Amino acid sequence: MSTSVLVINCGSSSIKYALVSERREDRIFGLAENLGSADARIKGVTTGGEALELSIPHADHEKALETILERLSHHNPQAIGHRVVHGGTLTKAELLTPEIIERIREATPLAPLHNPAHLVGIDATMRLFPELPQVAVFDTAFHQTMPSHAYRYALPKFLYTHHNVRRYGFHGTSHAYVSERGSMLAGSFKQGGWLTAHLGNGSSTCAIWNGQSVDTSMGLTPLEGVVMGTRSGDVDPSIHSFLASNLGWDIYKIDKMLNSQSGLLGLSDLSNDMRTLIEASEQGNEDAALAIEVFCYRLAKSLAGLSCGLPRIDGLFFTGGIGENSAYIREKTVSYLPHFGFNLSKDLNNNLKRGTEGRIDHGTGPQIWVVPTDEEGRIAKETEHVVDEVKAAVKKSDADAAIA
Ligand code: ADP
Repeated sequence: MSTSVLVINCGSSSIKYALVSERREDRIFGLAENLGSADARIKGVTTGGEALELSIPHADHEKALETILERLSHHNPQAIGHRVVHGGTLTKAELLTPEIIERIREATPLAPLHNPAHLVGIDATMRLFPELPQVAVFDTAFHQTMPSHAYRYALPKFLYTHHNVRRYGFHGTSHAYVSERGSMLAGSFKQGGWLTAHLGNGSSTCAIWNGQSVDTSMGLTPLEGVVMGTRSGDVDPSIHSFLASNLGWDIYKIDKMLNSQSGLLGLSDLSNDMRTLIEASEQGNEDAALAIEVFCYRLAKSLAGLSCGLPRIDGLFFTGGIGENSAYIREKTVSYLPHFGFNLSKDLNNNLKRGTEGRIDHGTGPQIWVVPTDEEGRIAKETEHVVDEVKAAVKKSDADAAIA
């Protein structure tokens, strides 16, 4: 592989990695999972597409990263790009310096499950590879262009000014990539008004005007917005006092219920996996059918709401595991948007090959596209961009010093 960027996404007990070549055509990727347990292992794909499975009993994040990097070092990565969920008010990808690491630490109360895991990964790679430039790419950064009327909650002002309580939005890397790629395919690169629906285990929607996010469905945390695999999305905030007063639940139990036991899983009482629900519904399971209906209706409602942020709608992009693979969910969602002039082609929708990009409307009205997301590719691109900028700045200051 020529010059490449190693993309790392550290979770609490797992690390996803991908080595992405400069033109992004070659990938080596994998997942280190069950870290800290006897069952810790790395599963992935090596160059040439061969499967890799490696047992690393009791390995922690540092040991797993060391093993991953040992296996990849002969590819000579030029930089490391870290996916970081919450960047607080940071507006773009940043070179990791002590100050930026501190800003990530400060954003921890806003992403208590994610940012501490990212910091463990950053700490380990900084120690293991002090000579490599390392960059943090934030899920929240793309949404920092939202206007204040989209990101402020109708809550007392001091909660915003003193405690940073506002809407941030997430999945920014995916919404940015998909809207950029999709608008290019549509012949209006980063121009016009687009809606994106990123539908995976976590799901969110976004409105993009001339390449910039103007509103999105997730908020202070990734719980707000549309129905997800196990997350409720929007509920009446009084649910907290209702459950506390009537069932005696504490805040942790309520938080767990909203994040891990709700969404498709909660509605269906069966599964958080859309494939399982579609199959069950076909076999007559009414709860599964209702879960799918609520998912699509709420999704359409979110897209319709976000359209208020756009002067006009040029089209809609579907992405994520559900958005890329399920013609059924795409059709059902669009059927709940009758006032927008979308004209979905059943044939193009049903015949789109999995994992491919393509247009699925009849050619009249706003366009509808399926665009497979590429978060790793986007993180690699942003990492290269930051590293190039830093190199250019160093060169300029050397030149200025020579002149002086
Ligand atoms: P993550 O958010 O973890 O990256 P993915 O983007 O991989 O998740 O999406 C996972 C979701 O995609 C699951 O709900 C899965 O059921 C769904 N999915 C994958 N393939 C299909 C399919 N053919 N039809 C419907 N849903 C699918």
